[in-house]
Amino acid sequence: MFENEMNLNFLSLSENESFARIAVAAFVAQLDPTLEEINEVKTAVSEAVTNSIIHGYPHTNGFIYLNCKIKGDRMELAISDQGCGILDIKEAKQPLFTTRPDLERSGMGFTIMESFVDEIQVESAEGNGTTVRLIKRFKTAKRAIHSGV
Ligand code: ATP
Ligand code: MG
Repeated sequence: MFENEMNLNFLSLSENESFARIAVAAFVAQLDPTLEEINEVKTAVSEAVTNSIIHGYPHTNGFIYLNCKIKGDRMELAISDQGCGILDIKEAKQPLFTTRPDLERSGMGFTIMESFVDEIQVESAEGNGTTVRLIKRFKTAKRAIHSGV
């Protein structure tokens, strides 16, 4: 099975949201995804990174850690921060739930991520940061080329 992996660390500045989204899209391009699949990945990355920037580090700039693995036709992406953490993960994942209505957030980030990837896992502890894992299978992945056929 073809495997590849990359890591990116960057400061939680809003300027880095588009950097992260484009970097992941460029990395998974080797799987020859459809335009729709690329857009789904970009949107999911954008939601997770924006959450770390806005909610994880509301008063400071901390580091966001992104790990992306390719395993055959699967992408396994982990986006982590060492910020304030989530009080109640189940509640946070509910559509329209937001702790920041004052910033005009709509509470749809997790719902959007869920609809664009096959699997999402959230690990978080209050005061101890958050890791969001996104798993997606690319249906048109170029497995034949990578397996040397
Ligand atoms: P939207 O994404 O629609 O702009 P939102 O960010 O509030 O609004 P979600 O992305 O669904 O909505 O997140 C729901 C809630 O989960 C947030 O309001 C916040 O309280 C919490 N949350 C999400 N990610 C993090 C994080 N990395 N660190 C701390 N809290 C988080
Ligand atoms: Mg959000």
